[in-house]
Amino acid sequence: GREWHLVARPDGWPVPGDFALREAEVPAPGPGQIAVRNLFMSVDPYMRGRMNDVKSYVPPFRLDAPLDGGAVGVVVASEAEGVAVGDHVLHGLGWREYAVLDARHATTVDPDVAPLSAYLGVLGMPGLTAYAGLLRVGAFQEGDAVFVSGAAGAVGSQVGQIAKLKGASRVIGSAGSDEKVKVLVEEYGFDAAFNYKNGPVREQLKQAAPDGIDVYFDNVGGEHLEAAISSLKVHGRAAICGMIAQYNATEPPAAPRNLAMVIGKRLRLEGLLVGDHADLKEQFVDEVGGWLRDGSLRYRETVVDGIDHAVDAFLGLLRGENTGKMVVRLDA
Ligand code: NDP
Repeated sequence: GREWHLVARPDGWPVPGDFALREAEVPAPGPGQIAVRNLFMSVDPYMRGRMNDVKSYVPPFRLDAPLDGGAVGVVVASEAEGVAVGDHVLHGLGWREYAVLDARHATTVDPDVAPLSAYLGVLGMPGLTAYAGLLRVGAFQEGDAVFVSGAAGAVGSQVGQIAKLKGASRVIGSAGSDEKVKVLVEEYGFDAAFNYKNGPVREQLKQAAPDGIDVYFDNVGGEHLEAAISSLKVHGRAAICGMIAQYNATEPPAAPRNLAMVIGKRLRLEGLLVGDHADLKEQFVDEVGGWLRDGSLRYRETVVDGIDHAVDAFLGLLRGENTGKMVVRLDA
């Protein structure tokens, strides 16, 4: 089977030459193991951080070794009790056509309950990030006004909709194109949205939320975080989920320049790691699954076809070519 290797560490924006698609032997599964033919693999912003050789909350990718990440596939050989050939599983060995792993590191998923790709997005890691980040870290309360950046992406689109479903007084989103802004308002029911490329974020946010905001869900950092600090009300909260505006930067960002406002407004800015919130998973799947079934929560996916286009999908994600979750479909 083929698998993607990182062959050079990107400096700034990754380029196709940093990656190589290589042929690899697929070993037979050992005791307790399964062999999986991957059907969908995820590309996620955090993978950019793992391409740098720095200590972080996840170890860096190794050079000349397969990349990894979320994937869903079908079991083609099993030496594990309780997992049968033909079962579908979610696991962590994406970026390759075939994965061989211990069955205890895989979760069985049901394609009759939700499309397989949904387990990488709306019902998966990004979905739980949105749910736990807004409700727990952001300490969302009914009646709050919420601003989310990266609002047309996998996490952001769910944050805005969960806020609405939970009784937000006003939900505002920002995204990088007029088309995405339209989707936020017309499809996801945001009260207001703006294209951050059309003018200063601070002014556009002030216009969209003249009375201020109670919660900011940050996917972007930089100028967005600075604008949110200006618009947050006294005792406002910010769930700091991501700072994608700086993942490819070679210099530290200038913003936020107004951090001192945190004092006078008694703001709480709290970082969020989805891995800390596994205890909410069941509640999340129940509640979001219900909203999906009754049509009150919507989602989009951008599907790129073929493992040979996986790097294109990843680079496209960083450039904003996706609306909703970016996934790669691997064909037989
Ligand atoms: P998205 O689906 O939101 O895709 C990334 C989006 O980021 C792009 O579509 C693009 O949309 C936007 N973007 C890219 N560059 C910029 C920029 N310079 N300024 C503003 N927006 C930009 O990805 P996810 O939903 O998977 O992730 C969203 C955020 O959440 C990321 O920051 C990610 O790192 C973080 N995250 C954190 C987790 C945690 O545990 N802390 C877990 C999962 C995700 P646009 O067209 O609008 O620019």
